[in-house]
Amino acid sequence: MPGTLLFTNATIVTLGETPEVIHDGALWIERGKIRAFGPAAEVLAQAPPLSKLDLQGRVLMPGQINAHNHLYSAFARGISLKEEAPANFLQILQRLWWRLDQALSSEDVYLSGLLGFSEGVQRGVTTVIDHHASPACIDGSLDRLAEASLQVGLRACLCYETSDRHGPAGARQGVEENARFARQCESDREGRLAAALGLHASMTVDPATLQYALRQWPADVPVHVHVAEDLCDVEHSLKTYSRPPLQRLLEDGLQDRPVWAAHCIHLQPQEKELLARHGVTVLHNPRSNMNNAVGCAPVQELLELGVPVALGTDGMSQDPSEDARVLAVLHKHQAADPRAFEWKNIYRVAFLEPARLASQRFGRQLGQIVVGAEADLMVVDYDPPTPLSGQNFLGHWLFGMGTAPVWGTWVAGECVFWQGQVSGIDASDLRSRCRVAAQKLWERW
Ligand SMILES: [Zn+2]
Repeated sequence: MPGTLLFTNATIVTLGETPEVIHDGALWIERGKIRAFGPAAEVLAQAPPLSKLDLQGRVLMPGQINAHNHLYSAFARGISLKEEAPANFLQILQRLWWRLDQALSSEDVYLSGLLGFSEGVQRGVTTVIDHHASPACIDGSLDRLAEASLQVGLRACLCYETSDRHGPAGARQGVEENARFARQCESDREGRLAAALGLHASMTVDPATLQYALRQWPADVPVHVHVAEDLCDVEHSLKTYSRPPLQRLLEDGLQDRPVWAAHCIHLQPQEKELLARHGVTVLHNPRSNMNNAVGCAPVQELLELGVPVALGTDGMSQDPSEDARVLAVLHKHQAADPRAFEWKNIYRVAFLEPARLASQRFGRQLGQIVVGAEADLMVVDYDPPTPLSGQNFLGHWLFGMGTAPVWGTWVAGECVFWQGQVSGIDASDLRSRCRVAAQKLWERW
């Protein structure tokens, strides 16, 4: 039966509100869902004869969830800029990202997706929330990413980055690509694809485009937008709309919709209240923020106000565990106080909120080992050198388990990666196709 399997001899880490560690555990997957788990003797007593996988003590835990990503950045790896090094965030956009995304072909979009999703499952990622831009080939671009995600087999929530950077026609196409893909996803019964509705940021979305988007877009699908990533977004909004960007976006129509706001670094005091009042989810990307030198989001304060904050990689890599390690040190460093960002908050941002967000969007339980949840799992080759328990899991994750080799990844009980092989993908052939495509892109961008 597809999606049916029994893991034995596993060190199970459940995650969830109160993580538990079960040594010498077993986990039974039936039709893609977790049917039972616990001490091996108990599970084996109730499971019928099934194909078994002996994990030899390795860690079995929920797959990683990346709450904000840009797969299209794949071919920026090793690129040389054609202009002087950017001195600020706007110049980073102008000299790198807006030049690169404009040069992407439909095939580049597909290959970037295939590469990123493959690299993700090799690090145990089972769900990716992406924000895509390819202004020269907007129509159907989300289908190319969806094709890549289905080929690799993980779950992907996709949107297109609507903006007025390329005039009203480009903006309209962006709006329509989001609307088209969102309608298409409504018929996805498998739960592998989901849609959000993408806006770039307040500073590149004109009032007419925002109103057009609100007319075209279904009201129940979340709007995924960058907010106050840099002061330039705030200054533009204050100058143009006499209000800061989050306030402008909410007041001009987003207040009645679910909103995912990436970054939220330079918030005005009233905007922090607005986030809480409107139930906006903030997507936090600490490595990217440091790399762009744009500042540090007030995550501790937002959590205290009850604002959900979920961790993403923002295209820096496909492995959220790298951002978890930065998350754990950045806020202490910023506050010059080792007590500034508590463990429970690191755990909330790195695990609980991404799981909540993905579960909500895909309409099924993700990111936790409980009976009835989706069997989205990874096996980590980690033999703890100090005692491991539910109470100290995060310490192991941040200081060893998170960098340990991933042996296998399952999505809905189907193996998508096992011992170095991504199912259905010739990784070396893919990398060679990507090198050719990247070389051409670097010549024309
Ligand atoms: Zn982003």
